[in-house]
Amino acid sequence: MPRKVIIRQFGGSENLEIAEFSVEPPSSGEVTIEHKAVGLNYIDIYQRTGLYPLELPTALGVEASGVVTQVGDGIAHLKVGDRVAYASGKPGAYADVRNLAAAQVCKLPDEISFKIGAAVMLKGLTVQYLFHRTTHLNRGDTVLFHAAAGGVGLIACQWARSEGINLIATAGSDEKCQLALQNGAKHCINYRSHDFVKEVKEITNGAGVEAVMDSVGASTLPGSLDCLRPLGMMISFGNASGKVPPFDIGILAAKGSLKVTRPTVFSHISNRDTCQLMADQLFKKVSDGTINLLVGQEFPLSDISKAHDILEGRETTGSTILTP
Ligand code: NDP
Repeated sequence: MPRKVIIRQFGGSENLEIAEFSVEPPSSGEVTIEHKAVGLNYIDIYQRTGLYPLELPTALGVEASGVVTQVGDGIAHLKVGDRVAYASGKPGAYADVRNLAAAQVCKLPDEISFKIGAAVMLKGLTVQYLFHRTTHLNRGDTVLFHAAAGGVGLIACQWARSEGINLIATAGSDEKCQLALQNGAKHCINYRSHDFVKEVKEITNGAGVEAVMDSVGASTLPGSLDCLRPLGMMISFGNASGKVPPFDIGILAAKGSLKVTRPTVFSHISNRDTCQLMADQLFKKVSDGTINLLVGQEFPLSDISKAHDILEGRETTGSTILTP
């Protein structure tokens, strides 16, 4: 029988449970995918803890690669046997096999392995929308990117380098900073031992940066706003340190007509054609070596609790893969 990971209540990683299930034939608009690799994401932790509430019991996991084994009615872009990868707002990727709406399922180019496909899909589409669909950055512009040695972070470092954008990274240790620098960051600040606001001011000669990409949330947001130049863009796209508390919108005026957005990848990929265009650009960067994925950790699906613990404990670098 195929297995999937479910939770019956929100809380710690001890709530992650392996359950057996039987796969129904796909409904209209769905495909059945036999997973070859599954991506671990920090969003899975928000969902497990209830920070992003789901109806319980629920399956978890939002990113995977595999092979199409059945195709429902009304699908033109996929057939049985296709190699595919996806990011999906409908949890359920932590599984041997699943049915999924085909709209967000993209063909995986032959030269990209299943492992890399599962490691890059959600994280890489996130970097694509951050750099191309959220703010308009030009060559020579400077961005501050927090947690730059993580899964999304290392892709962002390489993406920025490939487009001539100066990325000032932050990371939680000197070793992580080395990794961010090797992956294309221009500077890296260990924000556990140094004041990142002061250092960003020094690096930019007091001017500040055009944009901040902040997925750390509560512990960094106030400082992030202080790193922006007037008219700069604050992109708050995660909360690894906790939810950003409400703040007075007036401080955006006081700090120089700042803009703030709180995006999610799932709005950007909801349209099938847009999702495919974003994936095409991402796959091209992976295929031509512009983006060279670091899969820093790999676990069997049965070790899911351990995988969650090390991601939550800030012990990972790059992407983490689960193998069914
Ligand atoms: P990462 O591999 O980047 O892991 C999260 C990192 O956050 C940690 O390694 C750690 O790096 C840093 N961090 C800072 N403070 C804390 C803390 N208190 N507890 C735990 N970690 C902390 O994860 P992902 O690549 O999966 O995702 C990165 C971020 O991007 C997440 O916040 C995620 O939710 C967000 N995201 C948002 C999306 C969107 O569309 N809105 C889509 C995809 C991801 P360090 O030790 O260097 O500080």
